[in-house]
Amino acid sequence: MKPRVLTGVRPTGALHLGHFFGMLEQTVLLQSEFDVFLMVADVQALTDNFFQPERVRESVLAVARDALRCGVDPSVTTLFIQSLIPEIAELTVFLGNLVSVARLESNPTVKSELALKRGVFGDSVSFGFLGYPVSQAADITVFDAVCVPVGEDQLPMLELTRDVVRKFNRLYGVTLVEPQARLVSGARLRGLDGLEKMGKSLGNAIFLSDSSDVVGSKVLGAVTDPLKLRLKDVGHPEVCTVFAYHQLFVDAQGIEAECRSGSRGCVACKKELAGTINHFLEPMQTEYSDAYLLQVLLEGTKKARVVARETLARVKRAMKLDYVEAA
Ligand code: ATP
Ligand code: MG
Repeated sequence: MKPRVLTGVRPTGALHLGHFFGMLEQTVLLQSEFDVFLMVADVQALTDNFFQPERVRESVLAVARDALRCGVDPSVTTLFIQSLIPEIAELTVFLGNLVSVARLESNPTVKSELALKRGVFGDSVSFGFLGYPVSQAADITVFDAVCVPVGEDQLPMLELTRDVVRKFNRLYGVTLVEPQARLVSGARLRGLDGLEKMGKSLGNAIFLSDSSDVVGSKVLGAVTDPLKLRLKDVGHPEVCTVFAYHQLFVDAQGIEAECRSGSRGCVACKKELAGTINHFLEPMQTEYSDAYLLQVLLEGTKKARVVARETLARVKRAMKLDYVEAA
């Protein structure tokens, strides 16, 4: 039996290059060594998208499609839908007793996400959103995951899960597995507009499902070095988004030298990048029918639910809630 890893994606839109380099590439590599559970986190997506359920619903199949296109293999990876595992919600309620509100409010991941969600919450965050680290602790522990791939910014979340597990096990006896973080290397991919993060709904993303024409026009609109106005101006690749993208795909030393010396124009540089990205995306355009994707998700969910049920039975025994077993 391979050790289990839990990873997740929120169905809030189609997936983009940031998701590929920030998580999917790693997930695909993990498949040979680990028993990968890939959760489509629709319940979590609703915490800040409760007003647009149709968007979450549509995105469930979209993210499953993008994951398969990147090489997630449903014959080895368990792809499932969070809301179809009610045991996660149950465990969230129990774990909620072990986390203080102050701890949630001071969590750096929650704080920085909240800063981005001012438009949704204003000054008054919902109980559901504030509590999402608790539900994340339930997502991880309900499947006995030993390891969770995380970006640097998500480390405080995993620390919280680990604390909750230790507290649970101290109070009720050793029941839950304490997960380890597996740091995903690679910086956050910035947006076409130069913003810190390429985001699903920020209008600054190259989606894995974009056609070659769309990629071409998006790349042409990407921000570059503001000081390089003419072809012969010397460039500063360290501030250029287009250069940052080149580096993802190729050894960019030659590009860098040409840019710095003023022998590379931005338009040609962008055309070259669009070609590189299109070449990269070309093998990822496999068509999957909605019916097939749903079938993959429902089969994965069935498998995941067996694990979740077993954990909940253990949890309820530990918490003296095992009335049915005792009858
Ligand atoms: P949302 O705005 O709904 O949270 P998102 O684009 O952040 O959407 P998630 O589903 O929350 O997407 O993220 C899934 C994973 O992809 C996370 O591990 C996240 O860190 C990673 N990821 C998302 N965007 C980027 C990016 N621009 N660069 C690197 N990794 C990213
Ligand atoms: Mg996110």
